[in-house]
Amino acid sequence: MNTRILIIEDDPAIGMALRDDLELESYEAELCCDGEEGLRKALTETFDLVLLDIGLPGKSGLDVCREVRVGKPDLPVILLTARSSEAEKVLGLEMGADDYVTKPFSPLELRARIKALLRRSARNEPPSQAFGEFEVDFHRMELRHGEAVIDITALEFKLLSAFLNHAGRVLSRNRLLDLVWGSNAVMTDRVIDTHVANLRKKLGAGGSHIVSIRGIGYRFDQ
Ligand code: CA
Repeated sequence: MNTRILIIEDDPAIGMALRDDLELESYEAELCCDGEEGLRKALTETFDLVLLDIGLPGKSGLDVCREVRVGKPDLPVILLTARSSEAEKVLGLEMGADDYVTKPFSPLELRARIKALLRRSARNEPPSQAFGEFEVDFHRMELRHGEAVIDITALEFKLLSAFLNHAGRVLSRNRLLDLVWGSNAVMTDRVIDTHVANLRKKLGAGGSHIVSIRGIGYRFDQ
């Protein structure tokens, strides 16, 4: 699974240069130019890190940061500050940003910050989670049943992770689409159902953890 980075930056030259640079580094980067839209993406899609400009149309970067912290406390955020204002940096860190870089920044420095932050957040991730007779190992991306490793695809693993992260809650097909495929994906309900059915089949008797909610989607019961 690729590391996904959300860039919220309204200056197209900076935003596109950042995106190109990150993609060269094999990150999957998505660019968004508006605070409101960026916040929505950060909260509804799956990202590993957010690069956040402070001066944004729609909603200021500091507000976006504060709201990301409430909705996704563990999502790492690096602020891109335009000015070398100490007050702005302090305010940003108080709003819950993990780090900041001052524009103009060197791509090398930014990459080093990103790597350091991703390493830190990987350590916070639970290495594994159990449900029923199964164990999911997030570091190795493995699903185990006792000693046996079950052969599931990367997509099925992502689907299972989404279910585990939202255990006990009903997930609509739209929400699953966002969580697993990203909001730009176009997918029919039937395709989503097919992937869920495949995952269920591979879980065998454990497939009953995934409950169909008629007309809406699914709920994962632990
Ligand atoms: Ca700006």
